Amino acid sequence: MEILEKDEYYMELALKEAEKAAAIGEVPIGAVLVKDDQILARAYNLRETEQRAVAHAELLAIDQACKETDAWRLEGTTLYVTLEPCAMCSGAIVLSRVDRVVYGAADPKGGCAGTLMNLLQEDRFNHQCEVVSGVKEEECGKILSSFFKNLRDRKRKEKEERKKEL
Ligand SMILES: [Zn+2]
Repeated sequence: MEILEKDEYYMELALKEAEKAAAIGEVPIGAVLVKDDQILARAYNLRETEQRAVAHAELLAIDQACKETDAWRLEGTTLYVTLEPCAMCSGAIVLSRVDRVVYGAADPKGGCAGTLMNLLQEDRFNHQCEVVSGVKEEECGKILSSFFKNLRDRKRKEKEERKKEL
């Protein structure tokens, strides 16, 4: 599917959300939900902070947008997310009737928008989305890989310091 000029702009905003997650030690994934060039919701992963398995950026954005518009149907919206949606988020995307999903990096371990399976374009469901992948893919992947690298480095350092103390 075609990448629109504004897709990169909104993905940039989703990346900013991901940075907020990284700043508080969350896996950096960000999402922005847009309708008619208006931002309905912005969110980032809060799974660790809230100790909630469902606190993924996409779900939080969908929830916010439903509250904002006082409607569970999010027809006419585009969801921008830095990482390919998982099974849970893809389910919520379909059930809330999001029209278009634009994601950055593919997720080989959990992606259900084309990598492991494609729940967003499953004919047997009563709603299918337009899916655009690979928008700002490099930046979206990099923020994740550097987050995990920092985490490993920090753990290694802690281990070394513990050894010194012994
Ligand atoms: Zn998810």
